[in-house]
Amino acid sequence: MTPSLADPYGDEPTPLAQAAEHMLLARQGARLRPALARPEATRVLVVANQKGGVGKTTSTVNVAAALAQFGQRVLVIDLDPQGNASTALAVEHHRGTASSYDLLVDGAQLADVVTPCPDVERLEVVPATIDLAGAEIELVSVVAREQRLHKVLKADPRISSESVATAGEDRYDYVLIDCPPSLGLLTINALVAGQELLIPIQAEYYALEGLGQLLATVDMVRAHLNPELAISAILITMYDARTRLAAGVADEVRAHFGDQVLKTFIPRSVRVSEAPSYSQTVMTYDPGSPGAMSYLDAARELAEKGLRPQEGQA
Ligand code: ADP
Ligand code: MG
Repeated sequence: MTPSLADPYGDEPTPLAQAAEHMLLARQGARLRPALARPEATRVLVVANQKGGVGKTTSTVNVAAALAQFGQRVLVIDLDPQGNASTALAVEHHRGTASSYDLLVDGAQLADVVTPCPDVERLEVVPATIDLAGAEIELVSVVAREQRLHKVLKADPRISSESVATAGEDRYDYVLIDCPPSLGLLTINALVAGQELLIPIQAEYYALEGLGQLLATVDMVRAHLNPELAISAILITMYDARTRLAAGVADEVRAHFGDQVLKTFIPRSVRVSEAPSYSQTVMTYDPGSPGAMSYLDAARELAEKGLRPQEGQA
């Protein structure tokens, strides 16, 4: 056989070599992946659902990392006193670290509290410390307490309704806000600051219970504080394809929300749940795993999903 450029030694790869190549591709995928077009303006996405354990934090960090791997500039704001997103993104969040608490309560500016995620290029983080647990109460007596985060984001030049050409290369493309499992002032601050809502829903029996409360809160915020807010995507998480229950829940969610439901479901996967204990997202912990691949698909869908015309952020 004549050696060719593609096959210089004139032999077919063995199955083992093929497998190795596959692994390598999976691991290097981020670099080989074509970048997605950057949005016209910064998109601020609020990841909320007042139920705990539905995949808010997991979806925030993995969608954020996936978007960054697609060439987007991404900021994650951890707004949960538990600081799980900060852990997964390997940023310091012990008491005293500059954090989202300083933004909301102490009047700090965004640039004072942002720190890069060490493992993912183009991804930055505002960590959450346990101090934030007190913010819910401390904010009650503060003027315009629902608009604290909105004001901070509005004041930052890197969050902009201008294109990259005007605003500069380092303009953020996406800001993802990870909310705590409640509908208190922290979540309200996020809903007032954002334009889009991403609701993760766990594919389990009580999935839709309590969602009415979230939607009522969204209506209230829209009516009084942020008319721009739109439910932009529903993401079904921890989907177990082996169960009929999961398929039933997915159908029910689609019946309610139609096209707002992303086509990509996130499968239940041990790799996804292991990643945070190594201070990683699954995107870096096991980039070839089905969980990572699904988060890539979900991120692409979100990026391509009808960008609403973003005429001047209110
Ligand atoms: P929330 O932020 O809504 O409270 P988390 O993202 O922290 O939810 O997820 C709750 C738990 O479920 C965590 O232990 C997380 O590791 C696990 N988990 C999330 N998504 C998956 C998944 N796709 N497969 C397996 N475990 C998951
Ligand atoms: Mg969480």
